[in-house]
Amino acid sequence: MRVLVTEQHVGHTSEPTLRDLSEELIAVYGTDFGIHSPTWISRFTDMARQAASYRKGRVLLAGDAAHVHYPAGGQGLNIGVQDAVNLGWKLAQVVKKTSPESLLDTYHTERHPVAAIVLRNTMAQVALLRTDDRTNALRETMSELLGMDEPRKRVAAMMSGLDIHYDLGEGHALFGRRMPDLDLVTPHGPLRVFTLLHDARPVLLNLDEPGGLDITPWADRVRLIDAKYLGIWELPVLGAVTAPTAVLIRPDGYVAWVGDRTPLGLPDALTTWFGPPTAA
Ligand SMILES: Cc1cc2nc3c(=O)[nH]c(=O)nc-3n(C[C@H](O)[C@H](O)[C@H](O)COP(=O)(O)OP(=O)(O)OC[C@H]3O[C@@H](n4cnc5c(N)ncnc54)[C@H](O)[C@@H]3O)c2cc1C
Repeated sequence: MRVLVTEQHVGHTSEPTLRDLSEELIAVYGTDFGIHSPTWISRFTDMARQAASYRKGRVLLAGDAAHVHYPAGGQGLNIGVQDAVNLGWKLAQVVKKTSPESLLDTYHTERHPVAAIVLRNTMAQVALLRTDDRTNALRETMSELLGMDEPRKRVAAMMSGLDIHYDLGEGHALFGRRMPDLDLVTPHGPLRVFTLLHDARPVLLNLDEPGGLDITPWADRVRLIDAKYLGIWELPVLGAVTAPTAVLIRPDGYVAWVGDRTPLGLPDALTTWFGPPTAA
């Protein structure tokens, strides 16, 4: 059984107890239903706060230390884990001196806007929980909107984090977005894209002529895979997008470069994200 009560007053500083819960239940229902043996009691509020900066020198914030909000939509742990995944590989490359320290600044640039949107949508959901006539009217209006395909798709993609688009510049729709988990065909058999990410290493997927891309100066860091994909490229909200001939996938699953029959821009993207070329 899970019980949720709204306390009359905020600002408690002590841990909540079974007695607190029992008193709140009695205040509302006149009984605590004989409640006993809780496995977990916790207290949360609808506060919405975000750290102004996710990095100050060697101090980096991730998860609830960087952003807290009302739990509507179950988004907090999701974005906290994604913070860590965005930061982990960058931190490893800086520690190993593969990349300059400035790579760590992209952590704030990419992740701060994501939590800002979550704070905004959870604050909106808290407002919709009010029960006055005007809020009821607004909630019904929102329900009607969410009954339509396009608004529902957009809100679902926002709440699940599948619409995240890191602003890496102009380019193909995939650029800065999460790589879809495609079923690839390789000379060694079928292969799912996400299995390539299990090693948490960058992957360059060449979907054009095998052997058409040469990344020898980065071969110690980036895995090059020749494969084919025969299906439609589909992204959340955007739908079908033009098929690329190559994609550079970061260890966090986001696309750092998109090829269109030419390696134009590839060396720059490799250097930006995975450090300078190794001398032959
Ligand atoms: C009711 C509720 C329901 C939720 N449901 C969902 C959901 O369905 N989906 C979802 O994605 N998210 C959900 N969330 C949000 C999610 O629980 C949090 O976003 C997530 O737990 C944050 O993880 P964290 O590791 O960043 O922080 P925390 O889980 O707060 O972990 C921080 C840890 O650090 C410890 N600590 C603090 N200070 C110190 C110190 N000085 N020294 C050592 N240790 C310290 C703390 O004890 C704690 O264990 C929910 C939250 C609530 C309140």
